[in-house]
Amino acid sequence: MDHHHKEEELDIGRTARVPFILSALEKSKLTPEFRGPEIVQINSFRKATLEDIRGVHDYYFPVHLREAVEEAKTSKPRYPFHMIEFNYVTDTSYEDSLAAAGAGLSLVDYVVAASKNNANSPIGFALLPPPGHNIPVVDYMGFCYFENAGIAARYAQRVHGLKRVLIIDFDVHFLDITNDAFYEDPDIFVLSTHSEEWYHRKFDETGSGRGEGATLNLPLPNGFGDVGMRNVFDEVIVPCAQKFKPDLIIVSAGYDGHAADPDGTFQLTTGTYYMLASGIKRLAEDLCGGRCVFFLEGGTSESIVSFSVAESFRAFVGEPSMAPEFEKKYAVFLHDEPSNKIKQAIQRTKHLHSI
Ligand SMILES: [Zn+2]
Repeated sequence: MDHHHKEEELDIGRTARVPFILSALEKSKLTPEFRGPEIVQINSFRKATLEDIRGVHDYYFPVHLREAVEEAKTSKPRYPFHMIEFNYVTDTSYEDSLAAAGAGLSLVDYVVAASKNNANSPIGFALLPPPGHNIPVVDYMGFCYFENAGIAARYAQRVHGLKRVLIIDFDVHFLDITNDAFYEDPDIFVLSTHSEEWYHRKFDETGSGRGEGATLNLPLPNGFGDVGMRNVFDEVIVPCAQKFKPDLIIVSAGYDGHAADPDGTFQLTTGTYYMLASGIKRLAEDLCGGRCVFFLEGGTSESIVSFSVAESFRAFVGEPSMAPEFEKKYAVFLHDEPSNKIKQAIQRTKHLHSI
């Protein structure tokens, strides 16, 4: 998720990133044209229904969004968008958001169907504008409306009978609405790493009622980087996933934790995004027949986001990472990570979740 843009630079719905990503995939020969059936591009999807959206969002949320869009159409604003609460809308935001959420659901359909005929399903990657990582906090502009990842998790349960869904969220921000929607649900485990700057809740919130233990929020300090994420993956994400035994893994893949992202407070590099993609793929193969869908979330820089997605595709098809070359070009100066603070956060989380 991206904030603090000047109005003239606003890319509502984050539509500009997708052509960049597609062209990066093409340049890296990671498209169906070069890879045959190994990489499939799905271009026809259905729209999400209100029932789908309300699996996660408040009953009135889609109604308010639609009304705001109608208002934007009939008035003459100074800019071609309107504000709704903490977000912007354009004439097409409502329809675009239903289309994006629905595309995620079509991808879940595809992955689930493929897993019936293969030992391991191919991994899905939903490149959706607008993304779905909502952050309803004053001052921040989400550029997101419906939480596509959470909606897909609920849909997989309801329509495909996949009981247990693990959501892994490595966006630098906190996955607010999805966290709340599943807080009392023991069958949707929400595991989120995020910057402590963007997290305003208690460290030890772990779910409630029947959902006690099925929420893991890991706020991490400024300067959190590659070494820290490697440790978080090995010591928190892997054992949590093994303990939870999901039927499907959904990933909220935000790239705003990159060291060069103006929005982030972390100093991850694209090699870590490769590591996460290959590690999560392995987890999905070990635990749930490979059923896994990534959703593109935050990331301000088109080049970082598109390279990170390409790195993920390389990991999925088993090609080596090209991250060192990319990072050399970027030449970001990395500071020492606050390793003691990170270690403490990991230890505390492990203790809270008995892993
Ligand atoms: Zn974000």
